[in-house]
Amino acid sequence: MKPSTLRRACLHRLEELRAQGLDLPRPFDARELCRRVGAAVGQPISLVAVPMPSGAPYGLTFFTDAGHIVAYERRTSRVHQDHIVAHELGHVLLGHRSFALDDEAATRLLFPGLRPTMVHRVLNRDGAYTRAEEQEAEMMATVLLEESGRHPGPSADRDLSPGDAALQARLRHGLEHPTG
Ligand SMILES: [Zn+2]
Repeated sequence: MKPSTLRRACLHRLEELRAQGLDLPRPFDARELCRRVGAAVGQPISLVAVPMPSGAPYGLTFFTDAGHIVAYERRTSRVHQDHIVAHELGHVLLGHRSFALDDEAATRLLFPGLRPTMVHRVLNRDGAYTRAEEQEAEMMATVLLEESGRHPGPSADRDLSPGDAALQARLRHGLEHPTG
């Protein structure tokens, strides 16, 4: 799908959600956005900052009986964390399936933390998002950040510093596709 088409689709989806009462926090606030998105999709969403294991994506969303858990990399900048969370919420808002966890695994995720073996087991068992889903979630993240007054707009890619560009490339191509 062309970026402009994808962007329109994301804006359209956001309009639908707004019509159902979703109001985006301005300025951007990851925790508040999770609370509101959770209310919009009828599933509570918890945020947990963890040191993501080596080889794992920066963010992962799990589905449990008690709602969604968005795990995101603790050891990175706030701006990057906001982007990771927005991307994960993009998956949620677009109705992409997340990785199912039973209660015991969910408890282990929250305490004492996400372990490499668990990440790989989950990813291997459930597969990963498709490339198209990754692009959709990334565009939704851009739209969410923009609509919350963050992010420069559709020309963002051109204006990225090399570090940001590398980050975006990793987000686009590797986020849910850890190797090894
Ligand atoms: Zn993703």
